Amino acid sequence: MKILVINAGSSSLKYQLLNMDDESVIAKGNCDRIGIGGHIKHTTFDGRTIDEDCDFPTHTEAFEKLVEVLTKSDAAVLNSMDEISAVGHRIVQGAEVFDKTTLVTDEVIQQIDDLSELAPVHNHPHALALRACKKVIPETTPQVVVFDTAFHQTMPEKAFMYGLPFECYEKFHVRKYGFHGTSHRFVSQALAEAMGKDIKDLKIVSCHLGNGSSITAVEGGKSIDTSMGFTPLDGVIMGTRCGAVDASAVTFVAKKLGLSAGEMSEYMNKKSGFLGVSGISSDNRDISAAAQEGNKRAILAGEMLRYEIKKYIGSYAAVMNGLDAVLFTGGIGENSDDLRADVCHDMEYLGIKFDDNANKGLRGKLAKISAPDSKVEVWVVPTNEELLIARDTKALVESMK
Ligand code: ADP
Repeated sequence: MKILVINAGSSSLKYQLLNMDDESVIAKGNCDRIGIGGHIKHTTFDGRTIDEDCDFPTHTEAFEKLVEVLTKSDAAVLNSMDEISAVGHRIVQGAEVFDKTTLVTDEVIQQIDDLSELAPVHNHPHALALRACKKVIPETTPQVVVFDTAFHQTMPEKAFMYGLPFECYEKFHVRKYGFHGTSHRFVSQALAEAMGKDIKDLKIVSCHLGNGSSITAVEGGKSIDTSMGFTPLDGVIMGTRCGAVDASAVTFVAKKLGLSAGEMSEYMNKKSGFLGVSGISSDNRDISAAAQEGNKRAILAGEMLRYEIKKYIGSYAAVMNGLDAVLFTGGIGENSDDLRADVCHDMEYLGIKFDDNANKGLRGKLAKISAPDSKVEVWVVPTNEELLIARDTKALVESMK
């Protein structure tokens, strides 16, 4: 069975074609500059590539090009699109409307579009891509949507509500939704398998640390709390996002700088975080390099992230009444051994005995990095959101037969 996975943004369309018999990637790439030009970059499992400028006024032309590249180009991997059993789409915001992976209908596309107010950067482009995809794939090919927020719909009310007047929730749907759910679900399941345990018996803190970072308490396989909130701005300090700040500081700074609500949002989402604190870069590698050279603000930015992660681990252990495992994933979590060590040192009180030798130099590989006699296990678990979307899509399509 072949599944096409689509991750559409406002100007890009990332894709992976997977062979679900062995879960291998047949081809992957990105159509970008949609609406402002057009470009496709495509690679196949056997090393063929396409890298060319195109004309993509809308997502429809990008999908048309994708079909051509997959079926007719020098880097084709299909005889026809009929070989694809289903298409799985990543959707950022499902709010309270979608708590699980769902088959696409016109009504579902409209509901996703209607949620755009809650995720202006993502949901409308997702809806555009879903409509465009319908135009170019065979009518008989099912499309499936997998939501970043769905995994967190199990959070209890006491965890997802804010202390604002209740009407903010009732009228405007303001609450914590959480994000990276597909990743947290994938890695926590993979961790349970690696530990040889049933996920129902585990209390896990899952640390997804990348340009965007979120930390989730996973109890018995369910998300019970997570660090991102109404939007992906909340929680720990990120590449360009500030993470949690006192809301009064936000109104204060907006007034001081004369920024509108939209401009202030941009300030917190694009100019803050590692970039804003260090004044150097949003990228963890640049921050680490500058910190090693003694740059004080880079050191501070790195220390803030480490400190905040520690706090989340402690607080989530408290609400779960215990902890069996901590996992690290995402670009930083999988690759930054010094950050993992800094976070996990001095956590003996919690039952973590870290294994510095197992951790050192470990990059992007599934591995245990706690000592054999550590009460709480610590692991690096590489994430693979595309694979989970493909697995979900396959499962849903098979359940319809
Ligand atoms: P996104 O959230 O955009 O998916 P990623 O998960 O790819 O981001 O993570 C990007 C982050 O991972 C960047 O801050 C980058 O510096 C960091 N990173 C990638 N490789 C390494 C590495 N070898 N060592 C330290 N940090 C790394």
